[in-house]
Amino acid sequence: MINKALFKKPNNRLEGEQEAARDAEPTVVCAECKDTLPRAAVAGTDFVCPRCGTPLAMGARERIRWLTDEGSFQETETGHRAVDRLGFPGYAEKLVKAQRDSGEPEGVLTGLAAVDGEPCALFVMEPYFIMGSMGAVVGEKITRLFELATQECLPVIGYTVSGGARIQEGMFSLMQMAKTSGAVLRHSEKGLLYAAVLTHPTTGGVVASFAMEADVILAEPKAQIGFTGPRVIEQTMRQKLPPGFQRSEFMLQKGFIDRIVPRNAQKKELSMLLKLHGRGGRA
Ligand SMILES: [Zn+2]
Repeated sequence: MINKALFKKPNNRLEGEQEAARDAEPTVVCAECKDTLPRAAVAGTDFVCPRCGTPLAMGARERIRWLTDEGSFQETETGHRAVDRLGFPGYAEKLVKAQRDSGEPEGVLTGLAAVDGEPCALFVMEPYFIMGSMGAVVGEKITRLFELATQECLPVIGYTVSGGARIQEGMFSLMQMAKTSGAVLRHSEKGLLYAAVLTHPTTGGVVASFAMEADVILAEPKAQIGFTGPRVIEQTMRQKLPPGFQRSEFMLQKGFIDRIVPRNAQKKELSMLLKLHGRGGRA
């Protein structure tokens, strides 16, 4: 029997906000200024907070509709469902809640799509499914997308949002880091483009694997990007961290990411990358 107390963590501020936002649909809470905004009102502004300009949380399907050419998205690998292999206390209930909150069976959507007429393979992680946590299904779906893209000589665009590996799946979750990395490498060896867009927050095992393995790493403004959260680092190191630690702007300065792209420029930026490199693969 697993002692759940071993895995107890302090309240995660980000996770709490995301869950609160979904519960209060059709509204969304700005992570920066804490304003609660009607979802319908921000849809026309690229889902950006009108008060402080911070990109707001977007569900995966909402983001795909916003990003891709109308009617172009063909979803793949829709039949996968998480299995509670370890009998982890409370996991089965958590999955039911996550499915209800997100309206999705798992934490990532994958498929083929076009952005401004340019074909690509696309994965978009789902913030409202346990904060895009990476379990076996998430890892498997992303791996299969890269394998499909490798076979079809397609570039991959990936939007990440994640609290990290899914603790309730133990090693089954952690091994997804190696598995996805292998698929990314095989795709790369064929000379194909992989561009990632890191959104708030992208952390843990996802940062330590496919989020940081892209040829071009873009990020949304003010996104938290890092392996371990700042409070854990402060408590462990007993040191005060600098202002803006782990935010996109800080990560750009430190060379971890290539560019920060505001939401209203993302479609143009991605379609430009696809035009320049999208067909550069070696068959
Ligand atoms: Zn705001």
